[in-house]
Amino acid sequence: MPTPLRPARLRARLISVVVLCCALLGGLLTAQPAAAAIPVGNPDSYHVLVTKSRPLNPLNYIAPDLVYFPGTNYVLRRAVSANLQNLFGGARSAGAPLSVVSAYRSYSEQASLYNNYVAMYGQATADTLSARPGHSEHQTGLAVDVGNANGSCGLGSCFGNTPGGKWVAANAWRYGFIVRYPDGYQSTTGYTYEPWHLRYVGKPLATEMKTRGIPTLEHYFNGSNPTIKSATDLTAVDSSGVLWNYPPTFSGGLLQRTRVGGGWGGLKAGFATDWNADGVQDILAQWQDGRLTLYRGLRGGGFQSPIRVGGGWGVHEITVGTWWRGSRYPSVVARDGAGRLWHYANNTGGALSSQARAQFGSGWKTSRITLADFDRDGNQDVLATRTTGEMVLYRSNGKARFVDEGRRTIGSGWQSIDSAHAVSGFQGPASYGLTVRTGSGALRHYPITKGGWGGAFTIGDGWQNSLIFR
Ligand SMILES: [Zn+2]
Repeated sequence: MPTPLRPARLRARLISVVVLCCALLGGLLTAQPAAAAIPVGNPDSYHVLVTKSRPLNPLNYIAPDLVYFPGTNYVLRRAVSANLQNLFGGARSAGAPLSVVSAYRSYSEQASLYNNYVAMYGQATADTLSARPGHSEHQTGLAVDVGNANGSCGLGSCFGNTPGGKWVAANAWRYGFIVRYPDGYQSTTGYTYEPWHLRYVGKPLATEMKTRGIPTLEHYFNGSNPTIKSATDLTAVDSSGVLWNYPPTFSGGLLQRTRVGGGWGGLKAGFATDWNADGVQDILAQWQDGRLTLYRGLRGGGFQSPIRVGGGWGVHEITVGTWWRGSRYPSVVARDGAGRLWHYANNTGGALSSQARAQFGSGWKTSRITLADFDRDGNQDVLATRTTGEMVLYRSNGKARFVDEGRRTIGSGWQSIDSAHAVSGFQGPASYGLTVRTGSGALRHYPITKGGWGGAFTIGDGWQNSLIFR
């Protein structure tokens, strides 16, 4: 049974103290405040957040390592220039050549631009058209306005409908850029749609935002900070019963882990899932004594006290997923001791009801089960791994039934592989695959594409004593 834990690090002391005292009072499972340390206020950081209400500090900040963008008089920070050259190369290859329209602007350049707008339109209108000096992303050297090389729709919202505008919206993330002021988010960013204004944030963050569908930097930094940030995170219990969370790089790797809590030694299986569909990842825990408990994730980090979701699950192999396509909550697909397959509907986002179960298979005693959309049709399928090491595909119709068809064998040699679980986004937007542990303790990823398996690769070694969440 997990117990409230001591925060591992006493940095961010105030937050730790608050978390610790809440943990003692309410039995909360606490988490380290991880993203709080992101240097969004450091103007030298590629992640700096500059808005109309969050000026640069100091106001007259001068960006470091400014270089000329080749063949122009525009300057940008060195990494931005290098990645923009690659972006322009990609756009040219795609038949949408681009050029720079504006890049770094110093405090005094921004001041004269803004003052011109004030003189022409008055301050209220000027504020919707231009940032005040010290408040512009252009002063960071990380922002660039781009246009079609032929000049069409320059600095106009119609740029978004041109080949260049469409190309940057779809591809800028590959080079570490985001479209900073997307359509429909004026109330969040303070700016109307600017399909031409690209902001460099680095490839890891740009890829994460694209993969998780996060529309703006404000959503990313001012939004929630749950312990398990996304369904792409890897969660695992080590041999001393400590639960860890590993955020993904979204390019096929894992970042530094954060400690979630201790006392998880009696676990049989664990699942990170948004059980109550509130947008925050929860933990469903299957204990060796047969209890099934739910830890609802909190938006700001940590978890609520566990609630009992079911009992008598000591011998079942369970998986969690959207077995009934379109259902609001994820549900449980389980194999019981007699080899029968059951679907337990999750109708409330809370406890499971035995009345809500339905049998849909039998004779599975010698097969382990993994839920995955192997044929990429949007319906969860069951991958059956036999004791012989064969993996067989049971496609589903998305309504808790298997498709009536001959079964296809999609793998062999899987007898030494366990902990297989499907994950979206591990290699970036639209990617999908299985993360598994091999008999030698290697963590490997097997991409799944519409045509079948992609090239598998090793994420890391030394996982033999971990219980990896599915
Ligand atoms: Zn701009």
